[in-house]
Amino acid sequence: MELNEWIMTNEVIIRLGFFFGIFIIMALWELVAPRRELTVSKVVRWANNLGLIIFNSFVLRLLFPLAAVGVAIFATEQGWGLLNYYTIGTSLAVIVSVVVMDFCIYIQHVMVHAIPVLWRLHRVHHADLDYDVTTGARFHTLEIILSMGIKFAVILLLGPPVVAVIIFEIMLNATAMFNHSNVRIPERIDNILRLLVVTPDMHRVHHSIEDDEANSNFGFSLPWWDRLFGTYRDQPRGGHTGMTIGIRSYRDTKHCSWLSGLLIMPFIGKISDYAINRRQWKDHE
Ligand SMILES: [Zn+2]
Ligand SMILES: [Zn+2]
Repeated sequence: MELNEWIMTNEVIIRLGFFFGIFIIMALWELVAPRRELTVSKVVRWANNLGLIIFNSFVLRLLFPLAAVGVAIFATEQGWGLLNYYTIGTSLAVIVSVVVMDFCIYIQHVMVHAIPVLWRLHRVHHADLDYDVTTGARFHTLEIILSMGIKFAVILLLGPPVVAVIIFEIMLNATAMFNHSNVRIPERIDNILRLLVVTPDMHRVHHSIEDDEANSNFGFSLPWWDRLFGTYRDQPRGGHTGMTIGIRSYRDTKHCSWLSGLLIMPFIGKISDYAINRRQWKDHE
């Protein structure tokens, strides 16, 4: 249990270390090789997106001081969850856990698009008028709380090794920042990379203003679920520099960029016609 205790005491430092490390790398990469020009100034974008991200971390810490790692330790100690009940080798259990947890994130992502009340929360992520490293963690506080609840339930049912939860949390955080980055990666390299991980060009399609493109490429870390379930889309019709990012009905900075707009966004507008059976697909040539 000593390793578990060490992880618990240093969990914040470990996660913050990875967060800032990867954030700085991606931010510098965006400066050196940007994919698109930003439509809103970087100062405004970063101040508000990072403001929301910092606010969310405080709320999470307050509501769930144990975090996912704490729940995994609890499940292990109680012997709860499939993998604590049926013993398989540790390394296999780690691989199975990471893959299963990533699959749950994929399903959750599809659901927040399909169910109108959840789309209200998730559209805060999509209303970003640009696409850069800060988009990757820009979620409404209520969606973050919902995600955390789902993650806890998955951990209690699955009983993953504690180390698998740490690997998964770091992987999800790292890939979210990587694949939301405004970076240029040569197509040949991207084509190989996206066999293993969701790349910026792959996930950018999901942030298109076009409904059919936004309902593609739901994966966050592993790119296989989209291919397996038929939601994979190779490239945006308008090309990566020509496509429009965001949501059609939300185009002003007051709603889409300012922190106040982001926080109230789930509560404004009529219950949308975004439900999965009422969606209007645009005709394209
Ligand atoms: Zn989405
Ligand atoms: Zn996204």
